[in-house]
Amino acid sequence: MRNAVRAKCLAVTFVLAATALPASVSLAADDAATATASAALPRVAVLATGGTIAGQADTRAANAYNAGAVGAQQLVQAVPGIEKLAHLSTEQVASIGSQDMNDKVWFTLARRIQEIFDRNEADAVVITHGTDTLEETAFFLDNVLRTDKPVVLVGSMRPSTATSADGPGNLYEAVEVAASPAARGRGVMVVLNDTIQSARATTKTNTTSVQTFASPNSGPIGYVDPASVRFLAPAFQPDSHKYALPSGEQLPRVEIVYSHANMDGVQIDNAIANKARGIVLAGVGDGNTSKAALEALQRAAKQGIVVVRATRVGSGFVNRNVEVNDDTSGFVVSLDLNPQKARVLTQLLIANGITSPAQVQKAFAATW
Ligand code: ASP
Repeated sequence: MRNAVRAKCLAVTFVLAATALPASVSLAADDAATATASAALPRVAVLATGGTIAGQADTRAANAYNAGAVGAQQLVQAVPGIEKLAHLSTEQVASIGSQDMNDKVWFTLARRIQEIFDRNEADAVVITHGTDTLEETAFFLDNVLRTDKPVVLVGSMRPSTATSADGPGNLYEAVEVAASPAARGRGVMVVLNDTIQSARATTKTNTTSVQTFASPNSGPIGYVDPASVRFLAPAFQPDSHKYALPSGEQLPRVEIVYSHANMDGVQIDNAIANKARGIVLAGVGDGNTSKAALEALQRAAKQGIVVVRATRVGSGFVNRNVEVNDDTSGFVVSLDLNPQKARVLTQLLIANGITSPAQVQKAFAATW
């Protein structure tokens, strides 16, 4: 009996966190009030793509597993109490490890999410996703979705069959964030391990730890626990442009070239020969590279290939005209964007006919 009362109180508390009902709602709510609260729950569509969060143990080794083995419906059903946060619907978009994430799935996701919002089928979307390329999918969606409704990507570092799987808790909190009115107008977000990160700033920083997503240049935008969603600042929509998806299912070819000691221009010449429309340098330090590689990049820029200098360092901004003369070379700098996100933005820009160094630089600087 006591447990039943506690469960009821907890349910009401969750609803409060999720829907911001007036504080005057009594925690000793009767059944009618609970039914009203339930009717007022937001609608959250869960789109599943695979990843470790849907992973199942394998017999290969103690830590081996198959990503994407568990379906969307099963994932949601494995999370106790999640149905008290929102009216949930589920869709299986893909069942892949995110190392295999591709333009086709990205386009399907983007088109379906836009349709969900345009047809008012849901108030928010949660995407379950592998963590390896989660930041790229989040950033891609952030640049193409036209909505102020919450879109939250969630993953896990341990498969669903692990002794202390982090997926159920992460999924619970992702739905909690998506259902929160305070999450509106914040662009695409990433929720793992009690932390809310923005699509632009976040990156995977650890190969195995459950605390892997961080935003090295800005920190998280908020925190979440089973009873509360806390954002650190009011919603702020940077003056960022939204880019149209090209027809078909593919973005233009943009290569990332990784800089290192004793570097020659071969990787860059290969990218040119392979008809790359853009090249992103994962440079050393402030986006630097060797003389030979720089000359190869200058050759690329002369041919109209978009050349963006980013850094392999992991934090900090890449600035214009420091040790490299970007103005005379026709280069762009990625500022805060890491190489993998600089690649996504370059692809979207080229797909939208934005290719001159000045225009591309302006687009990279949109947030700043
Ligand atoms: N390889 C997995 C994936 O990205 C890893 C994970 O989900 O954590 O799908």
